[in-house]
Amino acid sequence: TTPLEQLQDFGEHHVTGGLARLTKGIMTKGEGSHVYFQDGRKMLDFTCGIGVTNLGHCHPKVSKAAAEQCLRLNHAQCSIAFHEPYLRLIERLLPAMPDESLDSFFFWNSGSEAVEAALKMARILTGKQNIICMQGAYHGRTFGALGVTKSKTIYGEGVAPLMPGTFPMPFPYWHQHNLPPSTSSSVLTAHSLYQLHLLLAQQTAPSETCAIIVEPVLGEGGYIPAPKEFLQGLREVCDKHNMLLIVDEVQCGFGRTGSWFFVEESGVRPDILIMAKGLANGFPLSGVVSRRELTNKLKPGSMGGTYAGNVVSCAAACAVADVMREENVLENVQARSQQLFSALRTLQNDGTLSPYILDVRGRGLMVAMEFASSEPVGAVYDSAKSQKPVKKGLASRIAKKCIEKGMLLLTTSAYEVVRFIPPLNITQQDMEKGCGIFEEALREAVA
Ligand code: PMP
Repeated sequence: TTPLEQLQDFGEHHVTGGLARLTKGIMTKGEGSHVYFQDGRKMLDFTCGIGVTNLGHCHPKVSKAAAEQCLRLNHAQCSIAFHEPYLRLIERLLPAMPDESLDSFFFWNSGSEAVEAALKMARILTGKQNIICMQGAYHGRTFGALGVTKSKTIYGEGVAPLMPGTFPMPFPYWHQHNLPPSTSSSVLTAHSLYQLHLLLAQQTAPSETCAIIVEPVLGEGGYIPAPKEFLQGLREVCDKHNMLLIVDEVQCGFGRTGSWFFVEESGVRPDILIMAKGLANGFPLSGVVSRRELTNKLKPGSMGGTYAGNVVSCAAACAVADVMREENVLENVQARSQQLFSALRTLQNDGTLSPYILDVRGRGLMVAMEFASSEPVGAVYDSAKSQKPVKKGLASRIAKKCIEKGMLLLTTSAYEVVRFIPPLNITQQDMEKGCGIFEEALREAVA
């Protein structure tokens, strides 16, 4: 055994059992759309480390900006003084905001921390306590974020009591309403908004409800873009009842769906917008954006964190924003999105495969394919009704086969869904290669 194989064994013994791992092996290098392993494997990365390395691994301009910053200043604590990259980053983000009212920024390290800050702000600023969230939502693993996470029991099993006062409503997704997959988005939207009205009448009074938190594209819960009428409906309810609309774009934001932020498509103004993941292309950084008029009401010292808005991460994020603009990355998202959708729709219409495929959906390069499933929705809308054959564990089997064939691919927490999260600057050739590997894996998995 080689020293790195020994290290792998060492890891199996000494790293917590609480972590799941998609593949064995030690990742040693990343370059563009590929990662390399100690055993010589070169893998096409359609996960981007769960939607993070949006400009590919180790983008030279991002790495250079971080390396130069590293030699200048590594840590400038945000409660001690401003540092330049923090402010330069705000300059770059302002023109990308989905609404010009969003002009007051606070940077953290992780998505979860940013969600915590948003929840606290909503309580402080409205003087109210309860929070409405979505079934299928994922907002993170800390106690507050976990309180509004409703996508899979494993995240919170044995952990309760979580933050109290969280009320889930159904997202406009057919699974959550016991309706067939072909149900139109306007019907789903009406069903969801009706449930919201019931919630406010029966369980949490508007006078006690401070906010609605929503992922405009449900992420871990199945990669489902919200119809714009749904987001508009949430905005109206928030306006009517003095509640804040918290939009979590940790996974779908920063170019992933082809615009800087997905919520832009609906014209809806968030009161608080949360971003992370692709923001610094791998360096830990998240952001909470709101209106000055609101954040001016927060007492100095009520927000903070030792590493929040780290100077190296902010320098990297400045470079990310520059590369996004200089290299017309959003245009590439549109082109590669069309290529990916067209490949997946061809599979969806293929005689052998179509019986298994329920849905191809998403936006930009946040795309999913859903298969007929027995768990956990079988009891609700089962395969007999949907006329689709069920292959239990199909999504995971496909992901495993993709890995054997040299491509990293993830499933989502909910249902039988595989998700495609390639780099936003992926080339046409690499996209073609990825689609080819996926097709082979899918054909073998259903055979
Ligand atoms: N919100 C959303 C929408 C997410 O997808 C995630 C992470 N998958 C989080 C919050 C939590 O972010 P982090 O893992 O950085 O804490």
